[in-house]
Amino acid sequence: MNFEVNECVAKQSDLKIVVILLHLLQTYKFKFMKRLKYLLIFTFCFSLLGYSQYKLPPLPYAYNALEPYIDSTTMRIHHDLHHATYVTNLNKTLEKFPEFYKKDLLDLIKNVNQLPVEIQTAVRNNGGGVWNHSFFWTVMAPAGTANMSPNMEKLLKDNFGSVDAFKAEFEKAALNRFGSGWVWLIKDAKGKLSITSTANQDNTLMSVSPVKGTPVLALDVWEHAYYLKYQNKRAAYAKAFWSVVNWTEVERLVTK
Ligand code: MN
Repeated sequence: MNFEVNECVAKQSDLKIVVILLHLLQTYKFKFMKRLKYLLIFTFCFSLLGYSQYKLPPLPYAYNALEPYIDSTTMRIHHDLHHATYVTNLNKTLEKFPEFYKKDLLDLIKNVNQLPVEIQTAVRNNGGGVWNHSFFWTVMAPAGTANMSPNMEKLLKDNFGSVDAFKAEFEKAALNRFGSGWVWLIKDAKGKLSITSTANQDNTLMSVSPVKGTPVLALDVWEHAYYLKYQNKRAAYAKAFWSVVNWTEVERLVTK
């Protein structure tokens, strides 16, 4: 469950292991080892090509793990098709500028207006889509597995007056977001929590966002996130969300 969003970017440590193995094989000149060496060199070169692009992180639980609050079909379509498409389109967008594949995803989308003008909108939409969904999966958990601790409850009380007041404000933000977007619980540099929302695939870490802060909880209010089960009843979806919030993860993010 402790999946880090940064895992979207390929790890280089695997490559180091291959290099060490190659060095070891160089020392032993056995014939079969030689064959293995060429195989490893091939794998190494191939992985260099593959490693350079952004990847779809796996869902940290089963498709049906959030039932009955978020249905299995929605989760499958949402992760395997919507999230995956943002990854594909981001990689396609960067084909002309492959140097950006090396960047940490967050660094890429934070200052999107410093990128070449022709890719700014596509990176904002698709890069944002990749990051936001990767984050969203981690702040949900099967019902009853990550309940709110007394400490988390106190944090919400301190910032919003009560847990109910916090939930009411969050649900209101979900309803008031016109069209597609996200609702966020964010913390500022002093640790103060607040609720805001962004349009489309923007988030509060982007310089283009009017409200900035570190996300500690998010709700996707695009229709694709709830329409199969809730149709036009976004309010019901927002209420059901409370049953699958990963409060353990939210508290970790608030207190880190
Ligand atoms: Mn979505």
